[in-house]
Amino acid sequence: MKIHVNTGGPVATNGYLIVDEATGVAAMVDAPHSTVAPLLNIAVHQHYQITQLLLTHGHWDHLADHQVVTDSYPQADVLIHRLDEPKLIRPISLLMALPFVIPSRKATGYLEDGQRLHVGQLEFEVLFTPGHSPGHVVLYCPAEGLLLAGDLLFAGSIGRTDLPDSNPRDMAASLARILKLPDETEVRSGHGPPTTIGAERRTNPWLEHL
Ligand SMILES: [Zn+2]
Ligand SMILES: [Zn+2]
Repeated sequence: MKIHVNTGGPVATNGYLIVDEATGVAAMVDAPHSTVAPLLNIAVHQHYQITQLLLTHGHWDHLADHQVVTDSYPQADVLIHRLDEPKLIRPISLLMALPFVIPSRKATGYLEDGQRLHVGQLEFEVLFTPGHSPGHVVLYCPAEGLLLAGDLLFAGSIGRTDLPDSNPRDMAASLARILKLPDETEVRSGHGPPTTIGAERRTNPWLEHL
C-alpha cells in the first residue's frame, strides 16, 4: 500500500490517496477543498485507477472537492454513511461562511458498519463511529495495520462534539471501540499528523475517562 496525503482548505483538512500498488487501483479518502488536484496528478501520472471516493463523514471540509474527483474519474463511486448523506446533498457550514460553493450530489452507495471494501487487493473494514457526526465512519485495514480515522481521533485530541448533530455519548462509545485495535495501528486522521492507537491510549488526555 502507498498513501499520499495532501492538506488544505480553510481548516487544514487531510485528503488521502490510498493505492494498492499491486493492481494500481486507488481510492480517495475525503476530498478537502483545494487538496485533491495534486493527488489526482499523482494518480494520472502513475496510471492509477481511482475507483472510489470514500467519505468519512459529511462535514464540508471533508467533501468540498468531491466533484473534482468525479470530473477526473467519473466512474468512481462516492460512498458515505446513509446518516451523513444529507450533508452531501446539501453541503453547508454551520460555523463559518464559506468562500466557495460546494456542489450538491447523492451518494452512489453507502458505507455501513462491518462492510468490507476492496481497493485492488487491499481490504478495509468499515467501522461505524458516530458522535462527531451521526454518520461518521472510520476505515480499518487489518493487514496493513492502518486506521483512516476521519474526525474521530487526532494526535492528542478528538473530534469536537459541540456541533448541532454531535453526540458526546456516542463519541465516547466510538472512541472506546477503536481503542481496542492493536497498539501499533497507524492512525491517519482528518486533521493533524499521523499517530498510533498505542500512543493515543497512553498520552491523549481526551481518552483518559474512557
Ligand atoms: Zn468533521
Ligand atoms: Zn474535519
